[in-house]
Amino acid sequence: MKTPDSFGRVSLAVLPTPMYRLDGVSASLGIDLWIKRDDMTGVALGGNKVRKLEYLLYDAKAQGCDYVLTAGGAQSNHAMLTAACCRRLGLEPVLVLKKRGVTDRRGNLVLDDVFGADVRMVDTDSYDDVYAEMHRIAAELTAAGHKPYLVPVGGSVALGSVGYVNCIREIAAAGVEFDNIVCTAGSGGTHAGVALGAKLYMPKTRVVAVGICDDPFETITSQLMTETAALLECPHTYTPADTEVFYCYGDGYAIPSPEGNAAIRFMAEHEGILLDPVYTGKCFAGLIKLAALGRLEGRTLFIHTGGAGALFAY
Ligand SMILES: *Cc1c(COP(=O)(O)O)cnc(C)c1O
Repeated sequence: MKTPDSFGRVSLAVLPTPMYRLDGVSASLGIDLWIKRDDMTGVALGGNKVRKLEYLLYDAKAQGCDYVLTAGGAQSNHAMLTAACCRRLGLEPVLVLKKRGVTDRRGNLVLDDVFGADVRMVDTDSYDDVYAEMHRIAAELTAAGHKPYLVPVGGSVALGSVGYVNCIREIAAAGVEFDNIVCTAGSGGTHAGVALGAKLYMPKTRVVAVGICDDPFETITSQLMTETAALLECPHTYTPADTEVFYCYGDGYAIPSPEGNAAIRFMAEHEGILLDPVYTGKCFAGLIKLAALGRLEGRTLFIHTGGAGALFAY
């Protein structure tokens, strides 16, 4: 079997990220809750995408690419972090964003601008159109003598998920045992890496992802787990039954929900930690519900995947 060290990786994140017990929240919810601060990965405002980009941008460099194109929503944390990481590595970022939600110069769009990213908005409801535009721009760059590297939404391909297998290995090495790990599922790559990483490095630990939109994460994640396992040369076909997803998204993706907003305030007031309205606030709202249902027995780890930039958009 390969390990995350078998793959080339550029060092972008400050690792290991901090991990500690949340005493105030634990006492208030009546559970034993710890946090993994992947909102402190050390590039821009931090966040989970940095771990994926360590592998993806190594690949871009190794292939001799000079431009990196990626896609996302208008307030995409992934796109913003791709721009930031590209600047560290001397790569030119092009962000092809869906013109929906908060599209004026707020939140992550301010940061995209600060990083000098080339932002292209596509007025559509479908990612097919966004990808079509991304391929059109890539062809244009190629014709001009450049070499573009394409990263799909969220960096959620097997090589990106290796970043979260690596995160679980990092958690296992800290020597604290967990009964449950809770993470957010947005495009599925983090969940796939965490779930596969747990199978490999923390086999007694259960993984629950909180779904922050109505995509079928049981299918998306298990397919990506299978692909990531193949890349790691520990082939196994994972099925939806190998995943556990708890949906808590209110009215839909990137639409702030009352319970998500309440969770943001709860975390802020108990721990001085910022969650966000699109991902981690809704995830934490799901975690609070799971705790109330008695479904988080023993010690639980919440992986904080970042997202603070969106607080300034909504
Ligand atoms: C992208 C993102 C997620 C979801 O991760 P995926 O790998 O896309 O499922 C969670 N939290 C934040 C803050 C994100 O930006």
